[in-house]
Formats: sequence, C-alpha cells, structure tokens
Amino acid sequence: MENRTEISSLGEFGLIEHLTKNIELQNASSIVGVGDDAAVIDHFGKQTVITSDMLVEGVHFDLMYTPLKHLGYKSVIVNLSDIYAMNATPTQIILNIAISNRFSIEALDEFYSGVYTACEKYGVDLIGGDTSSSHKGFIISVTAIGEVTPDQYVKRNTAKQGDLVCVSGDLGGAYIGLLFLEREKKIYLENPNIQPDLESESYVIGRLLRPEARKDIIEFFEKEKITPHSMMDISDGLSSEILHISNQSDLGCVIYEERLPIADEMKNAAYKFQIDPTACALSGGEDYELLFTIDQNDYDKIKLNEDISVIGYMTEREKGTNIITKGESTYPITAQGWNAFKKNQG
Ligand code: ADP
Ligand code: MG
Repeated sequence: MENRTEISSLGEFGLIEHLTKNIELQNASSIVGVGDDAAVIDHFGKQTVITSDMLVEGVHFDLMYTPLKHLGYKSVIVNLSDIYAMNATPTQIILNIAISNRFSIEALDEFYSGVYTACEKYGVDLIGGDTSSSHKGFIISVTAIGEVTPDQYVKRNTAKQGDLVCVSGDLGGAYIGLLFLEREKKIYLENPNIQPDLESESYVIGRLLRPEARKDIIEFFEKEKITPHSMMDISDGLSSEILHISNQSDLGCVIYEERLPIADEMKNAAYKFQIDPTACALSGGEDYELLFTIDQNDYDKIKLNEDISVIGYMTEREKGTNIITKGESTYPITAQGWNAFKKNQG
C-alpha cells in the first residue's frame, strides 16, 4: 500500500512550504520569488510577455490515464509554448491549484515533480502561486512570464503576402494518442481485468501526455537571424490556426497536403482507427508545435533544418484559404478541417 499523508496534516502554510521549499531561482530576472505577498521580476530593459492557461479535470485531462507527474509537466509546457510562440524566452511561472481532499501530499508531490522537471529543463523559475480547496476536481492555472528584445515579439496578424508557411515537428500525434487512451479506458471500465497494451502506441501517447515546447526553434531563429513575420503555437489544430493567421493578417493561403509533416507512428495508429492521417494533421490539437510564416529570402536558412517543414505560402486575400490535395484538387480550409472537407468531396 502506498503512503498517504492527508493534506490537512500540514495545513495551508505547511503545504505551500512543503511544495516550494527546494526552489532555487535560476534567472537573474527573478528578484523576489515565493514567500512574500508578490514576486518581483526585472527584465533589465527587455519587454515582458505574459500568458495564462487553465487546466480543469474532466475538461482538459482525465486522471484515469494521466499520470500526475506528466500533468504537472504538461501544465507548464502548454504555457511556455505560448511564450515561445511570441518569439520570446520564458523566465518565470506562477502556479495556482485548487485541490480536493481526494489528493494526498504524495499525489501533490508527484504533480510538483513534473512541474519542477519542466522548470529545470526550460530554465524557468516558479515564483509564486495560490492554493485553494475544491469540492470536486483538480483545477490548475499557470501564468508564464517571458522576455523579448524590444519589438522582436512576433504576432499572428503580421504575415505578408508571399511568405512561406512553416510548421515545426509533426502533427496529429496527440489527437491519436487521445483516441487510443479513451478507447483503452472504455475497455478497462467494461472489464478491469484486461491490461491495456500501451507500449505499441508509446509515440502518440507521449505526444498527448508529455508534450514539449519548441524552445529549440526559437533558439534556431536567433542563431540564424530569422524573425518570422507571424507565428502561433498549434494547440487547436493546424486548420484552425492557419485561419487565424490568414484572417488576422487579411491574407489568403495555400497549403499542400503532401507537405504536411506526419510521423509514421501517427500514420500507422490512424489507420488502426480508420482515420485519414491528413485529417489528424489538420484538425488534431495539442501538438504544441509552432506555425509561422517567413520571408521567402529566409528559405535557404531553414531548408536544412529537418524539424521545420514548409507546407505552403501566403497569398492575397481574394485567393481564399485553400488546401491542395495529393490528387491536386483544391478545397477551402475549414476550422473543423477534414470533416467538412470530406463532405465537399462527396
Ligand atoms: P497570500 O495569502 O498573500 O495570497 P499565500 O499564503 O497564498 O499568500 O502564499 C504565500 C506565498 O506562497 C506566496 O509567495 C505565493 O505566491 C506562494 N504560493 C502559494 N501557493 C503556491 C503554490 N501552489 N505554488 C507555488 N507558490 C505558491
Ligand atoms: Mg494566496
């Protein structure tokens, strides 16, 4: 039997002390961290970038198949991804949690170990938070703070006609991972004696449960002196995000199905579910890759980076937002991606 220490045995202040006592601040910009009424940061002449995201049990995650350590890690990552998507460097996070007495100290320690692993890996400091109780469900809110050289941040509404449309990594894996875990959960609930075989789908499951933020891509831009014209991270799915960039920039775009980055593991798993891998790449969310547009003159700088795919280009508004299939048919991109697209075909 695992140890179970009740949260009530520590009290609120004891709990906060327990969860934060080993913090060692890594950034010079973190002047005052946990322990006072508020934190103090100084970005020494840089501009400050701030973002916040909530994760709610039953809405954003299911504890039946989400290890708490992964959840802690992912809670940080989804926020850091938004900071990188501004071409900025994350430096601090603030973490708010609401927990019920269903959780033990040991369970919270697991969650925080994932939080601290992400902080260490990405060089950010946990500088504060708030702890509350919840009658039902676990609620997490993370605020990430970052810095950027003045006016080097990259928005969504500044793509230019003729820009190359690029994405990092590969797409659709997290969505297939979710389908897989949901299916195994259903099988388990019907027959708890059946042990799920998660090993064979470890790639797509990892994409869902333990995503990474694309720090490396931002560092690559800096090294190669590339400033994308527009950028965002892909949390809701490529179709929906490319429409944001196009609409907000008042432009059209063309993307090519054959250029979409698809991992073999995702493709094979999609076939098992009888789903088109292209549909997953277009509409699946939660991959936390970067979508960005660059000047055509920067093509030589990115073409050797295997983690970046050029999938199309920005056009004038009047040309609309279209995908060209492998069969060379042209269809409008819709926020629902492939489903609506399939209907058009019929
Ligand atoms: P206050 O009553 O002023 O809101 P708290 O007792 O909530 O203060 O917090 C005390 C300190 O601990 C503050 O620095 C706060 O930012 C930090 N803190 C509280 N909860 C957490 C948490 N879950 N994770 C990290 N830091 C926290
Ligand atoms: Mg408080």
